[in-house]
Amino acid sequence: MSITCPICEAEAEEKLPRVSDRVEIICPMCLRFGITTSALAIVSHRLPEDRHAALYHARAIAVQDENLPLITAGML
Ligand SMILES: [Zn+2]
Repeated sequence: MSITCPICEAEAEEKLPRVSDRVEIICPMCLRFGITTSALAIVSHRLPEDRHAALYHARAIAVQDENLPLITAGML
């Protein structure tokens, strides 16, 4: 499904079906990441640099855990 990336606002894809309370996004700029629905609800109220900082934070954690980066509401 085509959506607007919640981080950079580029045209992106949402990987369906949704798994529980998170959305998986495949963006040409931000690559592949997950975002919780609670984070998704507030992300549009954040400044672009804060959104990118949240993605950077999620990536740093994901590298350690070898998981898909997941943006949570606490990072925003
Ligand atoms: Zn993006």
